[in-house]
Amino acid sequence: MNRNYQKELEKIIEENQKQGKIPRLFLHSCCAPCSSYVLEYLSRYFEITDFFYNPNIFPREEYEKRTEELKRLIEEMPLVHKPVFVEGRYCPEEFFEMAKGLEQAPEGGERCFHCYRMRLEETARMAAEGGYDYFATTLTISPLKNAGKLNEIGEELEKIYHVKHLPSDFKKKNGYKRSTELSGEYHLYRQDYCGCVFSRQERERQKQEQKEKLLRSTL
Ligand code: SF4
Repeated sequence: MNRNYQKELEKIIEENQKQGKIPRLFLHSCCAPCSSYVLEYLSRYFEITDFFYNPNIFPREEYEKRTEELKRLIEEMPLVHKPVFVEGRYCPEEFFEMAKGLEQAPEGGERCFHCYRMRLEETARMAAEGGYDYFATTLTISPLKNAGKLNEIGEELEKIYHVKHLPSDFKKKNGYKRSTELSGEYHLYRQDYCGCVFSRQERERQKQEQKEKLLRSTL
């Protein structure tokens, strides 16, 4: 049976509210557009540390652009509990090592599952080290990401690092739609590829194919 991670999250929020708690959440953020709705939603109920750890992003200029955009968003958004921004290590060589042999895997395949784990594992480790109540990731907001797999990995890491994983499927309840509205409102930079060099090449190939198709249709 398919689990409803949004409902599970709502239950946890409700329980904490009943007990008058504002738990500390260590939240992995992939980029400003995805974080916009998640921060708007969760900052009502959690004290958030926003963790930008994305060694998958290529090239460095793109990584820096996404980092700055997220920092700006956090500064500009009028949130109930203002999140604290923390930047992780930028270690693309570790990402390339992890992706060895999976370079040609399509987006959404095996390479991505390893990429999810790499980012979530560092998040869980840091959350445990900092004595946080929960850890989570903004990645589940994207319709292109496998929310089931992300939650499954989160639950495995919860057992290893002894810090609670916060279930999520942020695209639900119009979360993805709201993130596009907020991206417009804050004039956020919206990248057109997921992040790694392989996703960038895939996107460039798709754009080229579209261009050629368009050209052929005008002949
Ligand atoms: S396509 Fe995205 S999720 Fe997949 S490996 Fe590349 S950066 Fe990671």
